[in-house]
Amino acid sequence: MQAIARPLARAAPRQVRAAAALSTWANVPAGPPDPILGVTEAFKADQDSRKINLGVGAYRDGNGKPYVLSSVKKAEEFLTANNPDKEYLPISGLPEFTKAAAKLAYGADSKPLNDSAVAVVQSISGTGALRIGGAFFHKFFPHSKAIYIPNPSWGNHTAVFRDSGLEVKQYRYFDKKTVGLDFQGLKEDLRSIPTNSLVLLHACAHNPTGVDPTPEQWKEISDIIKEKSLFPFFDMAYQGFASGDTTRDAFALRHFVSEGHQVALSQSFAKNMGLYGERVGAFSVTCADEGEKKRLESQLKIIVRPMYSNPPLHGARIASTILNSPELYTEWEDEVKGMANRIISMRDRLYDNLVSLKTPASVAQKAHIYMTADGRISMAGLNGHNVDYFSESVSKAVKGEL
Ligand code: PMP
Repeated sequence: MQAIARPLARAAPRQVRAAAALSTWANVPAGPPDPILGVTEAFKADQDSRKINLGVGAYRDGNGKPYVLSSVKKAEEFLTANNPDKEYLPISGLPEFTKAAAKLAYGADSKPLNDSAVAVVQSISGTGALRIGGAFFHKFFPHSKAIYIPNPSWGNHTAVFRDSGLEVKQYRYFDKKTVGLDFQGLKEDLRSIPTNSLVLLHACAHNPTGVDPTPEQWKEISDIIKEKSLFPFFDMAYQGFASGDTTRDAFALRHFVSEGHQVALSQSFAKNMGLYGERVGAFSVTCADEGEKKRLESQLKIIVRPMYSNPPLHGARIASTILNSPELYTEWEDEVKGMANRIISMRDRLYDNLVSLKTPASVAQKAHIYMTADGRISMAGLNGHNVDYFSESVSKAVKGEL
């Protein structure tokens, strides 16, 4: 090999050498940094001890440290003691997990669930579930290739659905004047979009606003969606995180199902089990009957197989162990409550601080605070040690004193 390669290289004319130096990728432009992960990089580079990262949406304990749930640790100990294998999962995931995940979301007394009429596949966390959903709707939704998402919405929704081949459109959601739900605007928009459209709804803990419809408002939304024959696709990335109660946070989804809507659902266990990096989630669709469920599951498998073949094992085993053990389930529910309550108490304290500092009602970003440009913050990044510094910095920034 060497004997041939050397003389050839030496003999290469100048143009050939120049061409070889020009990379195939020479014209690929640098893309913009991810709006959330870029914030974390800037945070890491800051040496100030007061620095606060409110960019990434991951829970932190009262000392600002990542938190591994005790129920998760126990599930892992149990799994290790049973000497598990590392074989591939089926394309649609771990059956004990998907079954338990659907029960957590839809409720034990859900009609479609008890009729074996919910098609469900495990997914690579919530993002993967949305991506499977996007591909499924693109391939099989008979009415349109558009999806309506709230304005604003989680930043990745647009990219996920666009890359699934859907056209992304918006409906009104947030009213900057009241810093609350623009319920009138939302209803008007849902009434004016074409019948049979696909609509994405945040099931609870709307990201980035933190503003959810009340149960009464959900009922009205459900009625409009029914009148207009819209198809509701719920994104439930925070079940239990909004109120501390997984049943309460599933209200919207369960109400729609009990009203006879067919729904699609994306679930994530990143936040409520703290399994961020394990990538545990599920995508499901309620069907007319068991036969339809089987047809849909066969198609969902056909979507998953060329995407990533089959989902990751470890996190699904953890979630399944917790969801299927009455003891661990109770412990997990308490831990969800604990996380939600800490976030709620930080929200209250932040509000009180901003009011007592007489902060005008607009937000800016300054000081050693790392957050996304849209003003969204991860409440879980606040704790008893940094909430005062954060409040004072926001207050000064808004008053132009920073
Ligand atoms: N949907 C929403 C609304 C989210 O906020 C998130 C996470 N930030 C996700 C889905 C997906 O998260 P993951 O893929 O980590 O489960």
